[in-house]
Amino acid sequence: MTREPDERATGSGSSGDHQDRRLLLQCRTSQVTRAAEVADRPGSGLVVTAERDNLRGCLGRVRHLLEVDHYRRPVLLDAARYAGAGRLPASAGFDRRWIECQRDLGLPVLTDSGYLAPDDMTGLVGILEGAARLGDATAVLPVHPGWLADRYARNALLRYVNAVGVPVAVIVERPPDPVDGTAALVGLLHLLRCDVPVLLLRAGLSALGALCSGAAAAAIGTDSALRQLDLPAGPPGHHPPTHGHGPSALVRQCLSHQPLTEIEATRRRHPDNGMWQCRCATCDGRDLGWLARLPEEQRAPLAARHSVDVLLDLRAELTGPSVQLNQWSWQARCAAAASRRREVGWDRLPTLDYWQRAIPAPTSASSAVPAPRRRRPERTGFRRVPSGPIGSD
Ligand SMILES: [Zn+2]
Repeated sequence: MTREPDERATGSGSSGDHQDRRLLLQCRTSQVTRAAEVADRPGSGLVVTAERDNLRGCLGRVRHLLEVDHYRRPVLLDAARYAGAGRLPASAGFDRRWIECQRDLGLPVLTDSGYLAPDDMTGLVGILEGAARLGDATAVLPVHPGWLADRYARNALLRYVNAVGVPVAVIVERPPDPVDGTAALVGLLHLLRCDVPVLLLRAGLSALGALCSGAAAAAIGTDSALRQLDLPAGPPGHHPPTHGHGPSALVRQCLSHQPLTEIEATRRRHPDNGMWQCRCATCDGRDLGWLARLPEEQRAPLAARHSVDVLLDLRAELTGPSVQLNQWSWQARCAAAASRRREVGWDRLPTLDYWQRAIPAPTSASSAVPAPRRRRPERTGFRRVPSGPIGSD
């Protein structure tokens, strides 16, 4: 495993900007070995999500990753107490041992927050003020999307986030009916322009959109269940299957992960549409069908490596100094991806439509998303991305 450079934050009080618009890979404890291999590259890092409330197992695996495997990219820990059938509410207090163990490992401190249900103002204040009292923590906010889509709830959220002044790591639940997905994204864009560094965790390709919109860092999941937060389903202890369609790979021009079997079948139907050849370091110019033809044991690891290669390439292409220009580039990519999906007969991806509508068009006289009013000193290692009016940066 690569030992240099050491990009990992050196302690809970680090003021470095190592997390600056970093694209992290979010995996479960049991996936750390493979995820660490593919995310051991500049601009990347890991978010490790505890499985079935096994916080001790998560901490032990990450200690091994740091002290034995000498992983040197940033690592964040996600207690995931907000997820699953037995999830805790936002009013649940933090586990001091979880906080102390992150400090002991020299990691940025993320709170082990419960789920923030609609209208739970007490829970919101509890998480933010609890994080502020810790002094070095990022407040994890696993929110019902109504907090972002509803104007009144959003205004309350933004007011408290700015007032308390701790960095936040937001996890947005999949919008249930009747929550408008575009409105939830507009709310996320407002949150990303707050006075504090904002991270987006447990996301899909929206992680790239968030980085284009000023997120300090964003995490994309290794499987579909870690690429969004779903409503809990089934009895306590039930975990939805995550590998129903076999390994998936990112199709760059469609901005989506698709099962290898579906990629290969579609490629055979549309062999000449220019979507399949991949110039990433893993594929080296081959068309994506080669992944489906690999021996079974090699398919998932190489598909994952290809996907991270492409994601990091996209991050490098899309995140320049101007947030406004980055957003327009992302908007154009979403429009092109929706078009390419139509060409090959794949389902519409609502997220691509949400992003196109949520970002103000280049012809708008001014952005619907306000510029930040002030900056705060930071003690967490996360730095917010400067932004400004159109054409000023
Ligand atoms: Zn590739």
